[in-house]
Amino acid sequence: MSVVTRFAPSPTGFMHVGGVRTALFAWLYARKHGGTFILRIEDTDKAREVAGSIDHIIESLHWLGIEWNEGPDVGGPHAPYLQSDRLETYKKYALELLEKGYAYPDPFTEAEVEVWRKQAEAEKRPFLYREHRPASLSTTWDGTVPLRFKVPEVKRYEWQDMTRGTLTAGEEALDDFILIKSDGYPTYNFAHVIDDLLMNVTHIVRGQEFISSTPKFLSLYDALGITPPAFATVPPILGEEGTKKLGKRDGAKDILEYREEGYLPEAMMNFLALLGWHPTETHAEGAEEVLSKDALIEAFDLARVQKGGARFDEEKLLYLNREWLRTLSDDDYIARGGLDASDPKIRKAIHLLKDRAATFGEARAMLAGELRCLFEAPSVDRALLVQKEPADTDSFTKTALTDLSAIIEKLPEEPAIEAVKGAVMPYADEKGRGPVLWPLRYALSGAERSPDPFTLVSILGKGESLTRIEKALAIL
Ligand code: GLU
Repeated sequence: MSVVTRFAPSPTGFMHVGGVRTALFAWLYARKHGGTFILRIEDTDKAREVAGSIDHIIESLHWLGIEWNEGPDVGGPHAPYLQSDRLETYKKYALELLEKGYAYPDPFTEAEVEVWRKQAEAEKRPFLYREHRPASLSTTWDGTVPLRFKVPEVKRYEWQDMTRGTLTAGEEALDDFILIKSDGYPTYNFAHVIDDLLMNVTHIVRGQEFISSTPKFLSLYDALGITPPAFATVPPILGEEGTKKLGKRDGAKDILEYREEGYLPEAMMNFLALLGWHPTETHAEGAEEVLSKDALIEAFDLARVQKGGARFDEEKLLYLNREWLRTLSDDDYIARGGLDASDPKIRKAIHLLKDRAATFGEARAMLAGELRCLFEAPSVDRALLVQKEPADTDSFTKTALTDLSAIIEKLPEEPAIEAVKGAVMPYADEKGRGPVLWPLRYALSGAERSPDPFTLVSILGKGESLTRIEKALAIL
């Protein structure tokens, strides 16, 4: 039997880290086993729907490199993949359940049910609709009231979860839940079971919030006379401190915001895969793994997904992103970072960016900040220029810059960093590193913080460097 997994988001807003991680685990498992991965949109709660969510979901998954074999945009043998386009199918199965005595039209008003619910709450016991189920049930349903499931057997359920092991729940978890609402739409509880059946889904990967409803699903599988798929629960994602659930600040934010901030999808996928899973049996906290898409597919296993919450570690994400940025060729770095490919200085500065920036966002900020001096001649302040001048001299800096001009003059037009260093250092060692290198770096950069002077001369080139030194000498 070939593996079929699905990601079944509701279009109720943007995709956040947790949603994407669930999709990723389901996808990795399908790819690992050469199976099928389906994207299904669960849009049966019209009140909660947010316009644009479906496009956003698709764009987010595309960005990460998670592709699906079947889905609303690509079609497939089980189309349609939008639940709102499948109402007739749910109705057909609902009527079948009605006919078999496993469903009945809700005879009560919402107000009546609300009274019972309140009463149960006051008595601190769970509200169970089935306790109010009328003795004689109507066998016809006109669709104007909800259709409810009639639990076939009230019993304790035990089931296997691929990540949690054996799970069990008793009678309190079983109830006559709504199959089809009075607006004609099915509930999640009903629709996903039908769709997973018709789409031949073999493994359901989802969050732990569905564990408590699993007995309801199992009783429905029983009524339908089908064997349920395998269940695999992914752990919750916890905030930085590793205690409470992930909040927006720690990363429950729109996944596409990471794209805007200059994270690479390779790094994001790598990071998400390690949220609750690790390729090796034992690993020290912080033993980061840089793993490509293919390596992840190769190593992934649902059985080794952890039970406990996974900590969202921003530092680790930055680390992985920096590592992934370093794997890019200079051309790719420029193209993917949206940098100006026509500026040769940018090309020369890439090693600095790779060294220091963890995201393209940081790289862009560096180019606009501490590296701006590469693109714009700085203005130089006399007091700062001479601030390392040894006491009792008043022309040391002037002499040094003049001598350095002569030294740099002998370099090739576009000297390598090492060549600049080789030429300048003996002089600096002889006269004093601080008093020599400071004015040189400051004359070139006009900034108190910048790359070292050798790097600056190398990137600026001989001509531009000499012009800047000349300008600094002019104010002395
Ligand atoms: N539509 C559900 C959600 O977005 C999917 C749950 C499932 O995967 O079965 O939470």
